[in-house]
Order: sequence, then structure tokens, then C-alpha cells
Amino acid sequence: MEKGAIIKYKKENAPKTGDWKYMKPVVDVSKCIGCGSCIEHCPEAAISLRNRLKEEMEKSSAVGKDRKIAEIDFEYCKGCGVCATICPLKAIIMKK
Ligand code: SF4
Ligand code: SF4
Repeated sequence: MEKGAIIKYKKENAPKTGDWKYMKPVVDVSKCIGCGSCIEHCPEAAISLRNRLKEEMEKSSAVGKDRKIAEIDFEYCKGCGVCATICPLKAIIMKK
């Protein structure tokens, strides 16, 4: 691969593909356990993990309560749906 072609996780180099999308990924707080698989497979630098908000703790599964949660940056997300397909807990749903 050509040097400099890898842009994953380097937001300063990543293209803002947010306006490409037709479908939008939505994270289900009650299912996400912060495993990070979606981050590894997202072709853009669009997903990161963050701490759960207090109100999200109440909706979280027993496993998820102690873990971080996936957050999508819609400036970079192009709506490809890879994250929804790859999530082992089906915690991401694609919506219009
Ligand atoms: S959305 Fe799914 S793949 Fe992504 S961190 Fe949560 S559980 Fe893991
Ligand atoms: S739909 Fe999911 S995998 Fe595709 S760019 Fe957006 S966050 Fe990444």
C-alpha cells in the first residue's frame, strides 16, 4: 500500500464524508458493551468510545454498565453500515 494511504483513526488526515450518508447508525445504549469491534471495522475515523452518561447507565445492560459506549461522529460517518453488521450484540441500527 502506498505510504500515507492509511488514514484510520487519524482525524486530522481523514476526509469528512458525513454528507455522503443516506442511512445513519444509531447506537442502542442498552446493548452496547464497548467492545470496540465497530471501531476496528469502520472504514472512516467515525467511531470512538466514551464514558456513559448517568441517564444511559440506567438503560445499560449489566455487562455494559462498567464499560464505555460507542459514539459516532456524523461529520465522518458515511453511512456504510459496516458497524451495524459487525457488532456482535446488534447494538447499532441503521436508520434514515
Ligand atoms: S456498538 Fe457493538 S461493536 Fe461497537 S462497541 Fe458497542 S457492542 Fe461493541
Ligand atoms: S456507518 Fe458505521 S462503519 Fe460506516 S462510516 Fe458510519 S460509523 Fe463507520
